[in-house]
Amino acid sequence: MPAIMKTKPAYGAELVEVDVPKPGPGEVLIRVLATSICGTDLHIYEWNEWAQSRIKPPQIMGHEVAGEVVEVGPGVEDLQEGDYISAETHIVCRKCYACRHNRYHVCQNTKIFGVDMDGVFATYAIVPAQNAWKNPKDMKPEYAALQEPLGNAVDTVLAGPIAGRSTLITGAGPLGLLGIAVAKAAGAYPVIVSEPSEFRRKLAKKVGADYVLNPFEEDPVEVVMSITDGAGVEVFLEFSGAPKALEQGLKATTPGGRVSLLGLFPRDVTLDFNNLIIFKALEVHGITGRHLWETWYTVSSLIQSGKLNLDPIITHKYKGFDKYEEAFELMRAGKTGKVVFFPHK
Ligand code: NAD
Ligand code: ZN
Repeated sequence: MPAIMKTKPAYGAELVEVDVPKPGPGEVLIRVLATSICGTDLHIYEWNEWAQSRIKPPQIMGHEVAGEVVEVGPGVEDLQEGDYISAETHIVCRKCYACRHNRYHVCQNTKIFGVDMDGVFATYAIVPAQNAWKNPKDMKPEYAALQEPLGNAVDTVLAGPIAGRSTLITGAGPLGLLGIAVAKAAGAYPVIVSEPSEFRRKLAKKVGADYVLNPFEEDPVEVVMSITDGAGVEVFLEFSGAPKALEQGLKATTPGGRVSLLGLFPRDVTLDFNNLIIFKALEVHGITGRHLWETWYTVSSLIQSGKLNLDPIITHKYKGFDKYEEAFELMRAGKTGKVVFFPHK
């Protein structure tokens, strides 16, 4: 079968032919119907410092997936051939202190497929049965695959009340765009988006942002204050990982407001904690992974409600993997929302 593989410790990846794997105990084999590229896949492709320290080639890339179970390994009881599933990509240990407090999203022994083992950029892939999430039959495969990153966005946006609340979103990359869709579906208003890329500001508008601004041309704090009559936003959601955006967002948040941080900063960040957080009594959340399995229920219901505007976010669809290099390069250049492969041509 064809698979996008990180074959060597260098930039890029290769489209190779490998054997269809056999599901081991507790595993299922799926026929991959849709699989999308995540920022993490891009880091592995680019072979950045994090990837160099974590990834051991040769390895099949990819983790966001929807597929149909075609073979069930020994000991798997609650899945069968024909089940239509997506997958939680964090394989948790269920034994550590965090897991035993039901905080699976911060399991200290988390393994990730496509990162710590073979992934799903192939026509068939192995999924541990304990990580499978059953989808309703009528959910589009591209939506089903997007549930994993949507889970990040849902945990960020819905970490506190948001209906009817003014909201600032910094960063409209794939995750920020999903965040906009969730915030709008949840009734946030107005949703103000700060994003330097014109391409992504346009996407943000299509997804439903009420205002978009370029932080390199306008001061986001001034824009927010003028829209909110000097009050600042109730909710600030950080999706960029840009230190400047964090500072601007904190300044633009109303005292007593809520801040949820998903973006990962490339370096330590220096902040005036006293004036930006403590004296403003802000409620600050760090967001990582997805709550198991509460977040998946929310994501699935949001998709089925028909209220999530996902189509403008899926900017690129590829049949087969032949154009994988184009897909990765477009994503690197910031010229995409989500990119989805349909492996079977
Ligand atoms: P991305 O890099 O595609 O998007 C980031 C966006 O921020 C880009 O569109 C960029 O133009 C924009 N940006 C840059 N500087 C800005 C500024 N000063 N103000 C506003 N916007 C600015 O990344 P993504 O895939 O959308 O992911 C978003 C972030 O979430 C990344 O930092 C990623 O590492 C992080 N992430 C965290 C988790 C987690 O579990 N905490 C999971 C996945 C991704
Ligand atoms: Zn654990």
